[in-house]
Amino acid sequence: MRNLVIAGNWKMNGSQTFAQEMREALDNAEFSERITTVVFPPFLAIHTMLGSDKFAVGAQNCYTEQSGAYTGEVSPELIADAGCQYVLVGHSERRTLLGETDQVVAKKVKLAVSAGLTPVLCVGETLDERESGNFKDVVEQQVVAGLKELSGDEVKQVVVAYEPVWAIGTGKTASADQAQEVHAHIRSVLNSAFDGAGDAISILYGGSVKSENAAELLGCADIDGGLIGGASLNSKEFITICRIAA
Ligand code: PEP
Repeated sequence: MRNLVIAGNWKMNGSQTFAQEMREALDNAEFSERITTVVFPPFLAIHTMLGSDKFAVGAQNCYTEQSGAYTGEVSPELIADAGCQYVLVGHSERRTLLGETDQVVAKKVKLAVSAGLTPVLCVGETLDERESGNFKDVVEQQVVAGLKELSGDEVKQVVVAYEPVWAIGTGKTASADQAQEVHAHIRSVLNSAFDGAGDAISILYGGSVKSENAAELLGCADIDGGLIGGASLNSKEFITICRIAA
């Protein structure tokens, strides 16, 4: 049985006041025991969200080393030491805006697992790649490259998030069929590359998920939850999506 995960990526949003309000709202919400709820606040709001028995907390990024003279960076070990359980790796905004390569992503994934964190490896094709028809190859390459430093056992600690770049923050969502097609492909790639591990790995969908489209997307056989951006900034909407999931 795979873990059902609903995760909120706040991106570069989340003042101290916002975090306190969100903390209160999520602490007072009733979540089904069948889902794991995770929030990814910006680093400076993580402390406000830690320690709840309703949801887990993750960082939106980590560095490629565990310690040392890397001013301004935060390592997986420090993220775990602070009390986080998750870290996002390879989000398309970091790949596109900050030049994060598959090699960097693979290193971060490996260090995150070594630190005891669950990395959420984000993959997804651009609009050009979707329209050219080779989107499944692009996603497959990102998955295999991102996990290449892990052993077969380690790979089971990872969550994968399929986020078509053309659907992130655009209001355009992949249809359930489009999303299911890629999720099934990712699972079969994971199964063949990692000795059947794909059946145990949660694969989340991300890209303009909101309460109106959550049921259809989360109802797909190979979609094990969602990575929610914009809609996770509204506590009511985020809680509603969690309820729809389970
Ligand atoms: C995201 O940032 O991971 C995301 C899916 O954003 P949105 O839901 O706003 O498209």
